[in-house]
Amino acid sequence: ALSVRGLVKRFGAHEVLSGIDLDVPAGRVTCLIGPSGSGKSTLLRCMAFLEEAGAGTILVGGEPLGFAETPQGRRRLPPARIRAVRASIGMVFQQFNLWPHMTALGNVTEALRVVRRMGRAEAEAKGLAQLRKVGLEDRAGHYPAQLSGGQQQRVAIARSLALEPRIMLFDEPTSSLDPELTGEVLDVMRGLAADGMTMVVVSHEIGFAASVGEQVAFLDGGRILLHGSPRDVFGKPRHPRLERFLDTYL
Ligand code: ATP
Ligand code: MG
Repeated sequence: ALSVRGLVKRFGAHEVLSGIDLDVPAGRVTCLIGPSGSGKSTLLRCMAFLEEAGAGTILVGGEPLGFAETPQGRRRLPPARIRAVRASIGMVFQQFNLWPHMTALGNVTEALRVVRRMGRAEAEAKGLAQLRKVGLEDRAGHYPAQLSGGQQQRVAIARSLALEPRIMLFDEPTSSLDPELTGEVLDVMRGLAADGMTMVVVSHEIGFAASVGEQVAFLDGGRILLHGSPRDVFGKPRHPRLERFLDTYL
């Protein structure tokens, strides 16, 4: 569903991604792991076109995202085409970034009303259905400050799902949560995976990666050092870099 080829990203002189090739199959979960600074967030942000890569291509359902290779070279696509492809991608961040002055339902329906120009009744019906999916229909009228971190993150997931993305990207969605709240967010993500959502998940939850991930990619220094099924990547004998990473993070 999404394929990345030869992706290079630099910030000034610092090359953060050094030629990433990755295929994200439809209806499966792809997990990205790797040490701090290895480029995981940057790769996800490039996949959502929140960051523009300096070289390489990303195809979403066969459609180029942002840049296309043409006989004349790599060309930036017109904004309307970029928006159209970007609309198929949803992203959830470590910090939930909910609007504090809006209820859970308001947060979920805002983009439907403003971006999709949906009427209030239709947007609220859709929003409630998404809140039900993440188990929070009864909290629709609560403000973020009245919700736990896990509930806030589930609202953020519902907000993203309301726009009906074909691919969901998660950047350490449980890293800012207390351990007892991590499970409820991972359960929502497991449900999404079971429903056949195409997902890319950056997470240090190795148990989640091993049980739900179709494939795991281990980034190190802007390159994919290891790539395969969880069994291939986590099974022994392990690559010494991965062993060191697991020792540090688990
Ligand atoms: P973490 O596990 O800490 O979230 P990460 O693997 O997500 O790390 P990135 O956030 O992608 O790593 O950062 C990769 C490198 O790029 C780091 O060295 C970081 O300092 C650098 N970097 C990221 N964003 C920018 C930016 N906007 N400007 C300059 N450098 C950046
Ligand atoms: Mg990161």
